[in-house]
Amino acid sequence: MEYADVVWDNLTQSEEDDLEKIQLEAVRIICGATKLVSITSLYSETGLEPLSISRRTHRLILFYKMYHALALRYLSSLIPNQVGNITSYNLRNSSNLRNISCRSQLLSQSFLPSTINSLNSLTDEVGSAPSLNSFKSLLSRGRKDVTLFYYEADRQTCVYYARLRTHCSNLNEHLFTKNIVKSPLCTCGDIEDTYHFFLYCPLYMRSRFELYNQVFAYRPLTVPLLLFGSSLLTDTSNLHIVNNAANMLGNLTPYRSMSVNKGFYISKERA
Ligand SMILES: [Zn+2]
Repeated sequence: MEYADVVWDNLTQSEEDDLEKIQLEAVRIICGATKLVSITSLYSETGLEPLSISRRTHRLILFYKMYHALALRYLSSLIPNQVGNITSYNLRNSSNLRNISCRSQLLSQSFLPSTINSLNSLTDEVGSAPSLNSFKSLLSRGRKDVTLFYYEADRQTCVYYARLRTHCSNLNEHLFTKNIVKSPLCTCGDIEDTYHFFLYCPLYMRSRFELYNQVFAYRPLTVPLLLFGSSLLTDTSNLHIVNNAANMLGNLTPYRSMSVNKGFYISKERA
């Protein structure tokens, strides 16, 4: 869906939306999220980005190559002059490239006019990057990298984890916000959110005890640590925590009401 996208980026809104839908469906399948997951959560979970942003980045990179004579010569010859080269006034935008006047929207959305607009809107630091690699790195600044250990456990554990992180699991609080169940409360009476599930719910005492024993070295156990790992730990340690939480996550299956450890239910006060 990105092949030669610098050529065909002047899409209509409806064409853009259709392409984006395909990408979103693929991203949803990759992480195992449900249909009701939010788009922001999906992209945050997978470290991917919307296709429109990828296309803009590809256009800017090609333009950088053209401007610095790293592309074919006939492409470089299409670059217009800087504003400062066609006027004697000391203008604020003299380092900007002169844009191409367009009488139609179709032309204004084509490669050169749209990319010059995008380039002129970049900060000076990005626009004056000394090398192609530094330009690429500045363009991707702020973009979240893919967290590899998210996808190194078995598929079922990865899916349970992704659903918890993207707020589309079978926890009642998640289902309630999607209008699937009438109440966010757990069988034990408290709101059944991620914190309650991992740290407090008396229904999962046995699996929680087993998890605590296995990951004792990484205490204190917090929900952010259990869900997202820690940048202070190695991927191996983070994966160790994920794998040991797998038993507990198994309680999140659609049949969890039949499989929870009710035999080990004790009162919250005693917990
Ligand atoms: Zn509970």
